[in-house]
Amino acid sequence: MSASGRSAKTPPDPATASGIFADIVFDRPLDHAYSYAVPADLVERIGVGKRVEAPFGRGDKATVGYCVRVHDSPPPRAVKEITRVLDDEALLTDSLLRLTRWMADYYLCGWGQVLQAVLPAGVRDQAGTRETVFVEPVAEAELPVPQPALTAKQSQAWDKLRKAGGAIEQRRLCRDAGVGPGVIQSLIDKGLARKHVERIERSGVVEIDVNPPAPIVLNEDQERVWRPVRETIEAGGYHAFLLHGVTGSGKTEIYLRAIEEVIKQGKEALVLVPEISLTPQTIERFRGRCAQVAVMHSHLTDGERGAHWRRIAAGQVQVVVGARSAVFAPCRNLGLVIIDEEHEGTFKQESTPRYHGRDVAVMRAKLENIPILMGSATPALESWANAQRGQYTLLQLPNRVENRPLPEVALVDLRHEPRSSGAFVAIGPTLERAMRTALGRGGQVMLLLNRRGFSTHVHCPACGYVAACRNCDLSLTFHRQRASLMCHFCGHEEPPYRKCPSCGEASIRYQGLGTEKLQAEIEAKFPDKVVQRMDSDTMTRPGSHRRVLDAFRNGEIQILLGTQMIAKGLDFPNVTLVGVVNADVGLHLPDFRAAERTFQLMAQVAGRTGRGERGGIVMIQTFTPDHPSISLAATHDYLKFAELELAHRKEHQYPPYQRLARLIVRSKNENAASAFADTLAGAFREALRRPDRQPPRSAGLRLLGPAEAPVYRLGGYYRYHFQLQSASPGVLHSVLREVLSVARAPSGVEFQIDVDPFNML
Ligand code: ADP
Ligand code: ZN
Repeated sequence: MSASGRSAKTPPDPATASGIFADIVFDRPLDHAYSYAVPADLVERIGVGKRVEAPFGRGDKATVGYCVRVHDSPPPRAVKEITRVLDDEALLTDSLLRLTRWMADYYLCGWGQVLQAVLPAGVRDQAGTRETVFVEPVAEAELPVPQPALTAKQSQAWDKLRKAGGAIEQRRLCRDAGVGPGVIQSLIDKGLARKHVERIERSGVVEIDVNPPAPIVLNEDQERVWRPVRETIEAGGYHAFLLHGVTGSGKTEIYLRAIEEVIKQGKEALVLVPEISLTPQTIERFRGRCAQVAVMHSHLTDGERGAHWRRIAAGQVQVVVGARSAVFAPCRNLGLVIIDEEHEGTFKQESTPRYHGRDVAVMRAKLENIPILMGSATPALESWANAQRGQYTLLQLPNRVENRPLPEVALVDLRHEPRSSGAFVAIGPTLERAMRTALGRGGQVMLLLNRRGFSTHVHCPACGYVAACRNCDLSLTFHRQRASLMCHFCGHEEPPYRKCPSCGEASIRYQGLGTEKLQAEIEAKFPDKVVQRMDSDTMTRPGSHRRVLDAFRNGEIQILLGTQMIAKGLDFPNVTLVGVVNADVGLHLPDFRAAERTFQLMAQVAGRTGRGERGGIVMIQTFTPDHPSISLAATHDYLKFAELELAHRKEHQYPPYQRLARLIVRSKNENAASAFADTLAGAFREALRRPDRQPPRSAGLRLLGPAEAPVYRLGGYYRYHFQLQSASPGVLHSVLREVLSVARAPSGVEFQIDVDPFNML
């Protein structure tokens, strides 16, 4: 290779050679560590888990990489020298290094790419810390005698400083004493005070006082579930539990006990929840029971994230609660991992490294040899199958606490709902009646519609034209408030038209129902009620989510409608009716998980009501009331659903019976995309047929495709995909590695590998 040829010509200067070498990985798809010599003056500073700067790539550009190994065995070839060590302390613990190493192997990407993604930007650049000047009075014995004369301002400052009793931020002293920094300087000059500079966290972590809740006595079911968990925590060691419990069955109470137990052992607990469940309510529950809780969510600034990271790394945090990426929290003494709503799709990251937070968490628990507890009312079928195979211990809480009933779910068959004269309505007469009854009794109503915008289908009945994105094979949604047609994938917007851009007819139709149109209809039907919409269009500002939920809780809002954002993790005792406007949205997508997702969403929604004393019902409007995803959600029958759906998956060789890897080839040039998809798939076919492998790997591995991806054009790229399937992850990975290690896309073409893909479009 040219790189090594060049480096051979520039051997390290013997004067600086230390005999120590560092292996460095870079933020590149290459899964390969490069050896560098460590010059003598950096030997003290170099360390595994630190970032370095080293000449890399074309032109030996100074490039930041991560040191993953330090050793003294000279590489076979002459190597270049690292030029700088960027961190004073290792950013990564040993166990995080091992975890990220595994991720690079499993998700087939560069170790450096994983490290880059895992370390929050605020940690890399020390965001959130600043140099701060502190002032303190000199010790009593060192005070000058006689005391020097002070001006009025100086005495004011001197008084405040003495009362502070120790070091205090100069800024604060100035503010408190109403003086400028010059006055403080005179105190120093007169020998009364001294100052020093420290790097401190900019954003103190806010600890809010919460009242410790009344102690809870576990019920019989909870006791049965708690016993093995407690015993496992006491004994230590890796063990995976799947806690299947209906909504309101007391799962969180089990999590809290488990956390208290590990804290007692002096260890830390990591709790992963979907981003959307990181509500103030959830956080308060943890804060109320555990002393030091760090919360990591996507609205944090780089600085805040960095501050949390450093506090956690310093061992100052007992419990980390966070969304997907919190799985990489740098806890040094982890004793337990918990994942709530483990089935949630948001645990899967859709950019490199395309990891699944739950699976990474299980691996972390294995590597750290600690228990992991995964909970859900509707476990992912992958997890359910793992429990059936005995890889996870299944724990069940089949009933709600205190014998509260699960809500009654009524299905409204839209095929038989009378339509009011012509005009399309979102809410049929049955649901409308139920709403009036609930509201009339002082209850609150939630309405779910998993599609945002006003009109989701803009078309011309004269020529058949459908408004579609110019970059994507996706139809445009009309947003009335923004007065624009929008692509929900790439963000492309254009002004709405009155005449068909294709045939010029003035008959363009704005049809299809989104949350915005639903809101207009509800406001017209219930003019004396306060209606609020919650979707990603209305919840753009940080804190808006919380404000709306608070207002809803306080009863200032009577009808809350929105996308699945409203369905998750909320708990409102006064909600006596939950309506699903159209359960079929999402059911017919070309994705083998469509049925599972619909079931999960319906079951979640069905769990949103009836939590308080007042009870409550759920009403689901659907065109397919007999579809198992809907009928079994209505009877709260996860077990039956899992059985049916697993049989279907087995028959069609889908996960969890087969491992899947999806390869996507994309290019702005259609022919180039198609040609490389064929080349790459051909290379895989070749690898499957290789005669030197006995038995031939084609026996255990299937290749489907290449074909146009279901959404063929996306963000201006033409996309082809194909899938590799195998019952054996080992076989799958060995073939992937073999082919991908030599695959090179021509310029202008990219390919992505998605192991255990979640998004099939
Ligand atoms: P889940 O997490 O399964 O939805 P939670 O743990 O949130 O269930 O429990 C639902 C409600 O019941 C909470 O308000 C919780 O405080 C309460 N709860 C939990 N366990 C008990 C118990 N053993 N006795 C009384 N109330 C309980
Ligand atoms: Zn688009």
